[in-house]
Amino acid sequence: MLRPLRRQLEVVLEAQRRAAAGNALRPVGVEIPFGEPRHRPPQAGRMAWPAWRVEVGGGRQAELNGKIDRLDADPDGYAVVIDYKRAATPRFNAVQMQAGLDLQLVSYLLAVRRGQAPAMGRLDPCGAFYQTVTPKDNDAPDTSPADDAFYKACKPAGLFDDEQLNRLDPALGSGGTSAWFHARLKKDGTPHPSGHDGVPPEAFRQLLELAETVIASLARQIASGVIAPNPYRLNSVTACRFCAFESLCPFDQLYGPWRKKIPALSGRRALNFVLETA
Ligand code: SF4
Repeated sequence: MLRPLRRQLEVVLEAQRRAAAGNALRPVGVEIPFGEPRHRPPQAGRMAWPAWRVEVGGGRQAELNGKIDRLDADPDGYAVVIDYKRAATPRFNAVQMQAGLDLQLVSYLLAVRRGQAPAMGRLDPCGAFYQTVTPKDNDAPDTSPADDAFYKACKPAGLFDDEQLNRLDPALGSGGTSAWFHARLKKDGTPHPSGHDGVPPEAFRQLLELAETVIASLARQIASGVIAPNPYRLNSVTACRFCAFESLCPFDQLYGPWRKKIPALSGRRALNFVLETA
């Protein structure tokens, strides 16, 4: 049981070591809390940032707390967030972010923008990624662990600012595909419309602004007592699948109405939809 897990972790670590060998991003913190840690105070010398406060009306504030698994930064102060996942690596989806379902990475980017690192001062967040620790196809018998291609199963997935792509993978040239990130360039050097997690700098800024608005709006709704069941439906997937409160919930799953119907878009189409409708 432990041996396959250990093998998977070794592969992920080696893949990350290889990715880091090609850029100047280095870990500057792990398990960085923003807001009051619930169970124990941060250890001395560890980074800890204040809570993110949102005005919710009537002189009240809501606090957003969280913890960032890992933060890398380069000597210029550009920072990248890594969030480790035990399941398969999810892909960032702008439509789901707008609907309040995919706010984790963007929340961390916003937290980094409010925080600072010792000896570095303010950081400029330029990317955030989910990283699985259980890659599936790392033990295919016909691939060699010495081969970079072997480690492609461990590519993190997320969102980054296209203007800072060279900080992630300086070796990536026109017409190339990054071995270490979901990044592809066309022959003319512009980003490929698919298989590429980067977004133009203006879109990156707009997504963060939108995420801030979505989070503030959710906090205000909760603070004003808007807590009625309002589940989403995305094709056949619903919020109720794994809900522990299903037997108590007054929401009628057969006859709805499902109030949040989320368009089934992904990648660049999802991004364009959000930027056009925001
Ligand atoms: S069963 Fe009710 S409480 Fe649970 S996710 Fe669905 S609507 Fe929400």
